[in-house]
Amino acid sequence: MSHIGDVMERIASLMSAGEIPPTPANYEFWYRYVTGADPELVEAIDAIMRTAGRVSPRAMDNVRRELYGGGGRGTLNRLLDDARRQLEALENFVGRTEASTRDYRVALDDGQQVLASSVTLEKQRAMLAEMVRATNAMMQKTKRLEKDLANSSHQIDRLKADLEIARSESRTDPLTGLANRKACIDYLDAQILRARVEMRCLAAVFLDIDHFKHFNDSFGHRMGDEVLRLVAQSLERFCHGVGFPARWGGEEFIVVVPGRSIAEVAELAERFRAFIASRTVRAKQSHRDVGRITVSLGVAQLNLDETAQDLVDRADAMLYEAKTGGRNRVAVAWPAGQEQAAA
Ligand code: GH3
Ligand code: MG
Ligand code: MG
Repeated sequence: MSHIGDVMERIASLMSAGEIPPTPANYEFWYRYVTGADPELVEAIDAIMRTAGRVSPRAMDNVRRELYGGGGRGTLNRLLDDARRQLEALENFVGRTEASTRDYRVALDDGQQVLASSVTLEKQRAMLAEMVRATNAMMQKTKRLEKDLANSSHQIDRLKADLEIARSESRTDPLTGLANRKACIDYLDAQILRARVEMRCLAAVFLDIDHFKHFNDSFGHRMGDEVLRLVAQSLERFCHGVGFPARWGGEEFIVVVPGRSIAEVAELAERFRAFIASRTVRAKQSHRDVGRITVSLGVAQLNLDETAQDLVDRADAMLYEAKTGGRNRVAVAWPAGQEQAAA
């Protein structure tokens, strides 16, 4: 699928078939599926399609949770509290409506009885006046309640939109657009569970730009930011369909690669290293070449009894080896028996 129009059309038709709410995070999810960025996502969605013919919001959430994790909600608690308060207000509103309707019905029933039994015109008149008053009061109350309801549902819509933005912002690095550390840890946790259940490989690649402080000092922080974006974009391209790249922080990136042997991952890391070293960084405004940058990478594979932190620590230790070994290189924690000459 190459044409952007085709991609958008495909996303729209899949989302409308499943009645998926059109939120940024949902678009992102379906974009990944349609472009085949994540083979596991494609596999999971295709399996649901085969059995159910469509993917409902609930099925989508299940796949999202299984593949990308996302249990932690820390910073969203305030928004969720607001949402809960709104729902309570709504419940309250429904209760109030029921109570006023009940009062009104009682007033009408009383009135009817009095009208039926009263002999005096006087009494009937008084009762009719009372019923007209109750009707007016009820109409006014209904109007007020309707306004409250409109207000409440408007606020809920706003909260939903805020929640959606907060959720996506809390998982994305604003400078590079890559997933951030939190999103990466969620993904890693979810993938570790899968690796254990399916007894398959999982690797992490830790990447750090060499002498980046010197680059910033020589060419300025803005050029430095350009370089971070360049590395992020290249990483995204290299990892397409293979792994999950994220900005760990500062000038450090991480890629989580499920289902590939450590030799394959080491090879990917080496290709990426060579690619970055071959590029010339050019200043956008002056079109002047400002030199080359290099990156060092550390590769480690999950031992099935390890935590996410253990794996990241080992990849980081390998990165340190790559740095002390001279930079612009890949260091691999080869599992025993698989020792090879590092690329
Ligand atoms: P090494 O090869 O050992 O990694 O050396 P280094 O200079 O890259 O490492 P060091 O940790 O000393 O410096 C990291 C630098 O990265 C310092 C900081 O200014 C820069 N940096 C971190 N985040 C950003 C950012 O968002 N934008 C820019 N432009 N620079 C950043
Ligand atoms: Mg660093
Ligand atoms: Mg560095």
